[in-house]
This record gives sequence, C-alpha cells and structure tokens, in this order.
Amino acid sequence: MILHFSCPDCGADMAYSIKLGKLYCQHCEHSEDIKPDPEQWQNLGGQAMDQAWTDQFAGPEQSADQTQAADQAQTADQTQAADQTQAADQAQAGGQPQVCPNCGSPIEASSRACSIRCPYCDSSLILADRLQRSMRPAMILPFRMDSEAARQAFLKWCHKGRFAPRGFAGSKNLKKIRPVYVPYWLYDLDLDLSVSGIATKVNIYVSGDTEYTETSFYSVARQMQLDYRNVPHDASEKMDDTVMAKVQPYDFSQMKEFAIPYLAGFETDQRDYADDELLPLVREQVGVYASTFARSTISGYSTVNIKQEDSSFRKISAKYVYLPLWFISYPYQGKEYVFAMNGQTGKVIGTPPLSQLKTTGWFALISGIIFAILLAGGLLL
Ligand SMILES: [Zn+2]
Ligand SMILES: [Zn+2]
Repeated sequence: MILHFSCPDCGADMAYSIKLGKLYCQHCEHSEDIKPDPEQWQNLGGQAMDQAWTDQFAGPEQSADQTQAADQAQTADQTQAADQTQAADQAQAGGQPQVCPNCGSPIEASSRACSIRCPYCDSSLILADRLQRSMRPAMILPFRMDSEAARQAFLKWCHKGRFAPRGFAGSKNLKKIRPVYVPYWLYDLDLDLSVSGIATKVNIYVSGDTEYTETSFYSVARQMQLDYRNVPHDASEKMDDTVMAKVQPYDFSQMKEFAIPYLAGFETDQRDYADDELLPLVREQVGVYASTFARSTISGYSTVNIKQEDSSFRKISAKYVYLPLWFISYPYQGKEYVFAMNGQTGKVIGTPPLSQLKTTGWFALISGIIFAILLAGGLLL
C-alpha cells in the first residue's frame, strides 16, 4: 500500500519541509501541520487508509464551500489513487512492479524501503504497510539541517581534503547527498558494577645515609549502580557502524512521536536487526565505559591492581527510532568514501578521497618552492 500526500488546495505533491516542520506544497505554498497518525494507519487496510486520508486533510478551519470542494476533489483523487493502489497491489501479488499512485509509472523499491521518491514524477511515496507493528518506530528526530546546510558542509569538507579528485565537489555529487532516516535502537540499561583490588602508596625518604622505601598496601573496592539512558545503536545493516557511532551525539529531547508524514521526501529503510540482536554489542560498549569510569575513581595511589570485576546488566527498555542523516557514498579507485552529516546538529564525518594526480602536483609545488628558496639563498651568498 503506497501512501502519497496530495495538496488539498492544488493537488500537487506535498513533502515535509525541514524549515517549516510541516507538510509543504511547493506549487502553491500550502502547508499542513503534522498530526498524530490516525489509528487506522497503524493497522492498514485499503478502506481504512482512504478514510484516514480524508480525516487528515479535512481541517475544521476550512469554510463549508472549501471543504465541499476539497472533499469532492479528494474523493476524485482518492478514487483514482485507490484504483491505482489496488492495481498496484494486484500487480505486486502477481510479482509485477508496483505503480506510483501519482503518475502511474512503475516504481522499483528495495525490499526494505519504507519511503522513496518516484523516479518519474519525484513524488514522495510511503510504503505504509512496511511501517506496521514492530516495524513502526516509536519516535522520530526530525531534520533540522536542510539541503543548503548539507551542501555548504559538503563543499567545506571537500575543500579540507584539498587533494580531492577533480569534479568530486561538483554539482553531480552535490545532488547525490541524500537525506535519510536511519533506524536505530535506543537502549535504557541499568548496571551494577563492582571492582576490587590492591593498591599501594610508596613513600621514599632518606634518614642519615640510608634511603628507605615504605610501601603501604590498601584494599580498594568500588560498588556502583549506573543508569544509562538512550544508548544508541544503528539497526541498519548497510550503514557502517563506525560512521553511525561517530555522528553521535543527537539531542534526543527533541524527538517527536512518530508519524508517517515526517517521512515524505526522505529515504527510509526498515531496520535489519531486532533489539535483542544488538544488545550484546551495546552491553559490551557500555561495560567498557562503566569499567573505565569505575577504575578512574580509584586515584591517589602509586599502583592499582584490579583483581576482580563483576557486572550485571538489566535492560529496562529498547525504543525503535529514526534519526536524521545527510549521506553520500562515493566510489573512487576501488574504495568507497563516505560523507555523513548529523541531520540535527550538522556534525560531519568521513574522509575525502585523495587524488593521486593532485597529490603529485602538490609535492611538485613544494619541491619547487624549496628549490626557489635554495636558489635565493645561493644568490644571497
Ligand atoms: Zn498546493
Ligand atoms: Zn510518480
């Protein structure tokens, strides 16, 4: 079932505007607040979705005439959309490609895609039945960095890698920087940790002709209860875990309850992992933080020798969320380079590729300068 938001005023495609925080029609500048998803969208059937669609757009602020006109227009649209969707469903059942409800063109979506853009009419399409039940995120952190911010950050980043191959910062790549929502799990974990060992304090002093070394031994122990909240781990197989860890932190206090219209205009995939599948990795990471922290509190000794460390975790909860990311991957000389920008804070991750040709050029320039200096030095002598 493909969901597509048409403007109630002019019928054009609507997408989420990062600047406005609303659904926005570029054609007539009409905007719609993001409302909580109707219950029907969380348990989609053909009929239920059509009704929800009407409810979503039939706002009380419209005059009776407008409402009627809009209703009629919508009814016509919906009938058409519903027909196309039905055809699409049938086509899918027969193993044929799905069809865009806006332009009727066949679309190809990867098996895990939840939201895409139609390659023909560029409409924002949501594959809503892939966002059901356990695949429906609880929360979403909406983008704050818009395409212009991403463009500027990319150009700056390319400039830093001054050896970037020719054309790397060109318009072709700029267009390929995509805003994606990455599926993450956020874990709340409680941890009981105890460490114990032997520490020493060494005191050296001189009395007469003799130097004395006095070593005092201490039994040291720390017992801690640590609460970790919103520990993130990406739940996407194709995204690099290291990159996804480095774009942190996100400010999770800005998260909103998930609603389908947030995805209009963005690329989104379903998660690849259940929370329990990633839990061992998260425990390990948190365990390292906690251990380092506990050991750091044993200070003021000459030596510390930890003899025993015990920890027990309790998973309090795991929340499925979508976090915003601007992203481009770029193959160059057999290697994949990645530019990633935190869609909330603008933090940039990745290393630009180096062009062999430009590197050589730079070294030639450097040796040219050295030669010139030597020559100038020689002339001066
Ligand atoms: Zn419009
Ligand atoms: Zn289309």
